[in-house]
Amino acid sequence: MKIAVIGGGVAGLTAAYELSKAGQDVVLFEKEKELGGLASSFPLGGHYIERYYHFICLNDSDLLDMLRELGLDSRLRWTKTRMGLYHNGRLYSFGAPLDLLTFSPFSLVDRLRFGLMIMYTKSQRRDGWKSIEDVPVSQWLVRRFGQRSYKVIHEPLIRLKFGPYAARLSAAWMWARIHRLGKSRTKITQQEKLGYIEGGTKTLIDALERQLLRNGARVFKGVTVQEIEVRETGVAGISCNGQRQAFDVVISTVPTPTFATMLNGASPEYLQKIERIDSIGVMCVLLRLKESLTPYFWTNISDPAISLAGVIEYTNLNPCPYFGGDSIIYLPQYLPSTDERYAVPDDRLLEEYIGYLKRINPAFSEDWIREYRVSRDEYAQPVCELGFSRHKPGIETPIKGLYLTDSCQLHPDDRTVSNSIGLGKRVAQLVLGAEKVKG
Ligand SMILES: Cc1cc2nc3c(=O)[nH]c(=O)nc-3n(C[C@H](O)[C@H](O)[C@H](O)COP(=O)(O)OP(=O)(O)OC[C@H]3O[C@@H](n4cnc5c(N)ncnc54)[C@H](O)[C@@H]3O)c2cc1C
Repeated sequence: MKIAVIGGGVAGLTAAYELSKAGQDVVLFEKEKELGGLASSFPLGGHYIERYYHFICLNDSDLLDMLRELGLDSRLRWTKTRMGLYHNGRLYSFGAPLDLLTFSPFSLVDRLRFGLMIMYTKSQRRDGWKSIEDVPVSQWLVRRFGQRSYKVIHEPLIRLKFGPYAARLSAAWMWARIHRLGKSRTKITQQEKLGYIEGGTKTLIDALERQLLRNGARVFKGVTVQEIEVRETGVAGISCNGQRQAFDVVISTVPTPTFATMLNGASPEYLQKIERIDSIGVMCVLLRLKESLTPYFWTNISDPAISLAGVIEYTNLNPCPYFGGDSIIYLPQYLPSTDERYAVPDDRLLEEYIGYLKRINPAFSEDWIREYRVSRDEYAQPVCELGFSRHKPGIETPIKGLYLTDSCQLHPDDRTVSNSIGLGKRVAQLVLGAEKVKG
């Protein structure tokens, strides 16, 4: 069986690894020169650093299993992290139970309710989201946590992550996020523990590439697939660089909006189904600073003057000793790629963000900045709207031999490296299962 995998992110690499391990003839196409997709890295100061921060939770089981299988479990590290909240001009510690008890923007009742509701959501069964899938996220949050908590914590978080899509977001997404992070503490009274891989996610990406090449798969980097050819009998192949190549099976792991533009010959009903899947873009500034900005790994923003989804001081999770004690900061802003701010030149973006950092830490000065980089991705976060499980696309498509993976299929779970490994494994099992039935 000749199999094409489109996309060399975590899902594509995992699918190619699993299929090549099973002895299949696999060819992987990645449009960028570097593998890894949203989890890829670039060189900075002689070392590689991830384009976007990646933390690991204690229950990221597909990732933890894969690290074990690849012999990388000794590279896994856990850190007790702290979380901050920048609210109306003041930086608060916000993450530990004691922080909540002293959090002055909340009344005593708000504090107790917030803590209890987090504990309750965490203790619910894994399918606890099903009954709220058709409830708008804002309605559910106000009902569960109260108006004040919603205004201070949740409303900014959702607005800054989903922008114009926020009103369409299902409560199930927020429920699953609280559930996942809640599981990163063994007891509610314990400090949050998050993980990272030594050398960053690149350690995993490189090991997957090495293994699949060893298994005989071929990998083409810097090659954009332009078209997936569909005939009445099923998928026939792909086109890239103006050339057609025949394949028995094609697996797309690119974002669904891109997949929709590549399909040639699919039914209007299927196209309509996949074209309604929305995804919001991200731009993210990475800074290498001489000094530490905050004591927190993650600072949520709840201040109308700042449009960042958070301030992530990555070196408070992974100390990256090779940067000589410098601080690595990520400043993500989510917005549709059609928004004019998405095209703001890098130097203007930096100027705007410097203003934010001066608010968050008044001691911050521009001469702390040693280096900076800006990353942009048009499709960074799928939008799981009300009732999403009824219209999300399946991994198996109606076209024989054509398969699709996309983070939106994880609904209500969020997109993570671990979940993309899960998608890659699942699609490989489906392909191998279909081959067995045929055989
Ligand atoms: C800002 C940010 C922060 C994140 N933080 C975390 C975190 O803390 N923890 C965590 O676990 N996860 C995190 N994630 C999520 C994680 O990075 C993703 O879930 C995961 O990397 C997605 O992998 P994927 O393979 O499914 O998709 P992608 O990474 O999107 O892979 C798709 C690949 O297809 C390629 N491609 C697209 N079009 C074509 C084409 N026409 N031809 C060939 N190739 C093509 C792309 O270049 C890309 O490499 C974060 C993501 C972002 C954006």
